[in-house]
Amino acid sequence: MSGGRGPLVEVEGLTKSFHLRTGFGFRRARRELVAVAGVSFTLERGETLGLVGESGCGKTTTGRLLLRLLEPTAGVIRFAGREIQALPERELRPLRRRMQIIFQDPYGSLDPRMTVEEIVAEPLVVHGVGDRAARARRVRELLDRVGIPASWADRHPHEFSGGQRQRIGIARALALDPEFLVCDEPVSALDVSIRAQVVNLLVDLGRELGLTYLFISHDLAVVRHICDRVAVMYLGRIVELAPKASLYREPLHPYTRALLSAIPVPRPGRKRARIVLAGDVPSPLDPPAGCRFHTRCPQAMEVCRRVEPELVEVRPGHRVACHLHPAPPSNGARA
Ligand code: SF4
Repeated sequence: MSGGRGPLVEVEGLTKSFHLRTGFGFRRARRELVAVAGVSFTLERGETLGLVGESGCGKTTTGRLLLRLLEPTAGVIRFAGREIQALPERELRPLRRRMQIIFQDPYGSLDPRMTVEEIVAEPLVVHGVGDRAARARRVRELLDRVGIPASWADRHPHEFSGGQRQRIGIARALALDPEFLVCDEPVSALDVSIRAQVVNLLVDLGRELGLTYLFISHDLAVVRHICDRVAVMYLGRIVELAPKASLYREPLHPYTRALLSAIPVPRPGRKRARIVLAGDVPSPLDPPAGCRFHTRCPQAMEVCRRVEPELVEVRPGHRVACHLHPAPPSNGARA
């Protein structure tokens, strides 16, 4: 359980660029790909923030930057009030115990040669926690907690289904008793029939252990089930950030509206008009000027091609980056 005051995670102007070599011969050039372009948000203790968007929008890179699995190019990352973006590994190490990741692919993220006991105990071994007997007890406790019989601890990953493997991945992520978990598309590789079970397990664990989650997903239906707030990313930027109820009831950004229109409506007889976006996501090597979404936006105006909109608060806690929704005048201006 986390103590202390203030947000657990704070991000300001977080940026990550990669340098790529493109072309051949004389045309060979070094180009900059800005995967994450100045994003800012906070995560309150015990909160679940959904980070959604199409593939390549920068959400996975953002998750890895928060854990310093990737080095940021610019910006500030604060964990429990401490700036960590430039901490040397020696000082980062004790903090790493408190922040963990659950990967998307339960098939690729577990070493097939190791037993489940070895996999779940690995973080304890790496951080020198407990002796062999204490680690074995902890592994059994964790397996029990995620719904895997402790008597199966000597089996190998190939003996488990996809859902069971993801449960093992969750047990491993919890081994060091973390406060913050980045869940990177944790159910998208699973059969639809077992996704809800794994999401419900994460919800239960979050409540019982007071966990703070960054839940990365392209699936707004899954995010609705687990998150308190949602941030929508497009081409490396956050374009809308709002409490869940506000975002799903009245999405403001045309991109969010299009994403939401693709979710099937559960009630028979009710239909939601599907907004089909024109074209593909532009290359992050050459993002459009002005609003990055203008090449696909059904409501684009002339100003959108020239001026990049800022992320501004238009309702309490509801921020959007779109010229259709300018910031309301402050109380002082109204008076
Ligand atoms: Fe569409 Fe313009 Fe808003 Fe961008 S700023 S989302 S192009 S209306």
